[in-house]
Amino acid sequence: MPRSLDIDALAAGVAQRAPRPLARAISLTESGHPDARAVLAALPAGREAHIVGLTGPPGVGKSTTTSALVTTLRAAGRTVAVLAVDPSSPFTGGALLGDRVRMGEHATDSGVFIRSMAARGHLGGLAAAVPQAVRLLEAAGFDLVLIETVGVGQSEVEIARRADTCVVLLAPGLGDGIQAAKAGILEIADIFGVNKADREGSEHTVSDLRTGIRLTARPTGAWRPTVISLSAQTGQGIAELLAAIEEHRAHAQRTGTWQRRRAERAAAEVEALVLAAITGKVHHQVAARLATGDGAASDPHTLAEQILTHW
Ligand code: GDP
Repeated sequence: MPRSLDIDALAAGVAQRAPRPLARAISLTESGHPDARAVLAALPAGREAHIVGLTGPPGVGKSTTTSALVTTLRAAGRTVAVLAVDPSSPFTGGALLGDRVRMGEHATDSGVFIRSMAARGHLGGLAAAVPQAVRLLEAAGFDLVLIETVGVGQSEVEIARRADTCVVLLAPGLGDGIQAAKAGILEIADIFGVNKADREGSEHTVSDLRTGIRLTARPTGAWRPTVISLSAQTGQGIAELLAAIEEHRAHAQRTGTWQRRRAERAAAEVEALVLAAITGKVHHQVAARLATGDGAASDPHTLAEQILTHW
């Protein structure tokens, strides 16, 4: 079969929200395969999903919350795709989220798609692969795409902030809060979910956050982060969390933040790709020059100048 037909068939499958073509196309983006771009180019344009980032320290209840959100969304007749992203691991975090939810109640539901992602040799890593996967899921026509980041670090923050709405999940216990603050996840939240409301200390975390938010100066009309108390395990507060996510979307679309963030994301994506390509080229040139006797004998500044001159 000619390759182009293959790509058209794959794109058609993605556009119909068929799980196998979707999984295959995401694998192509993950491995940085050039066909991924061809598939993307063959997809219908103009479909937009609400992209929601969910991040927070390990053990805070992200996968439990994701599962509860999926159940509630499906009950409301909305379709949802979940990308569980683990930037700190070369392997997929599949066993953490994917398997648990996939094997569970959503396994046979065609309105749900769950997938773990890791950067398998992609130029630019997940920063390049995740936006491509999100575009595939948008073209597939999901109403909502939830990006759950597994770890807590700078790259998780980077991925979560590439969403239309960013939810940061916390739970009672000082350790979690400090860890989150260090990673810079507090600043990116549009919504805070304080999970494990059934546990002691939850109200304290909620009121601390609310005070912090009140004391932070914001331009008039700007979104003020909402704090939602929930218990993902019992389902308490999940409807409120979804309502807040919805409210944030409406606010972003009304004020133009939605379009602005999307434009910034598009720019950041191009930037990441250019930087990755430049880094690769620099790497290659430095190695090539050092391999020659001349190069190895030159001082670093001269060598750098030579490379830049002959760029
Ligand atoms: P993740 O690492 O952030 O994805 O967290 P998980 O969703 O795997 O949850 C970590 C642990 O917290 C698990 O043992 C969950 O059963 C538990 N957990 C999740 N939500 C709640 C909750 O609302 N209350 C309590 N008490 N435990 C919860």
